Amino acid sequence: MCIRAQYAPLATLEPWDADRQLITIPSELRIPEFALRAVRAVLAELAIPQGELGARCWCGEPIRLRAQVPQQRRSGEVINSGA
Ligand SMILES: [Zn+2]
Repeated sequence: MCIRAQYAPLATLEPWDADRQLITIPSELRIPEFALRAVRAVLAELAIPQGELGARCWCGEPIRLRAQVPQQRRSGEVINSGA
């Protein structure tokens, strides 16, 4: 089973759920770069080797962050990082 990542409110946060292979990051981390960093931090704790960019499952598949769309902001805002 591949590792997945999702957002959740900070209060209920359990960063790593081994049963579900699920990384949870605070929904407060809206900036993708920070969210990615949080995911990578968890992966580092799990001793899963990471490349320079992105986040990878133990099998080498890229881990996608399940996008969270806040109800009051649905305009599909795009954040360009590193431009
Ligand atoms: Zn995998």
